Amino acid sequence: MRNHIAVYPGSFDPITYGHLDIIQRGLGVFDRIIVAVARNSEKKSLFTTSERLEMIRQTVGDDPRIKVDTFDGLLVDYVLAQGARVILRGLRAVSDFEYEFQIAQMNHTVREEVETLFMMTSVPYGYLSSSIVKEVAHLNGPIDSFVPPPVKRALEEKLGKRR
Ligand code: ADP
Repeated sequence: MRNHIAVYPGSFDPITYGHLDIIQRGLGVFDRIIVAVARNSEKKSLFTTSERLEMIRQTVGDDPRIKVDTFDGLLVDYVLAQGARVILRGLRAVSDFEYEFQIAQMNHTVREEVETLFMMTSVPYGYLSSSIVKEVAHLNGPIDSFVPPPVKRALEEKLGKRR
């Protein structure tokens, strides 16, 4: 029997209900999902890599179908090293498309055996991003419907310290 594994890469700075929705729906299609936190992201992150990993682990629990990991270097090489062939990404607005299209084409050019598959966001999460959550949290707005409780606590702690 084939074991279909998808790697779901991202910054997850921090993980939101939008990401979790993609993970749960991804499990309806794949046997296993590897949530892979990018270490070498150019983006400046609010949380350290280990903080991001910890929040994901606290949130997804100990579901044996989900592995939480980090990677650096070329994503496609990480994917193949994990015995996977698929990169799973979420798509929200048209604004996501240009960037995702570019990366997916580049990844396919580098390793043509790796495919990128996209899952459309669910209706309630179409506007939800880690950046928006950080912005709202920074302004002391309510974030309960955007992130799970461990992430809410971490945001309050992190931003509280900075105020
Ligand atoms: P990156 O910096 O790689 O874009 P993110 O953590 O922002 O990392 O996003 C990881 C993936 O999750 C991306 O494919 C992104 O489009 C997707 N994603 C983020 N938020 C949502 C959401 N609300 N609904 C669906 N997909 C999402």
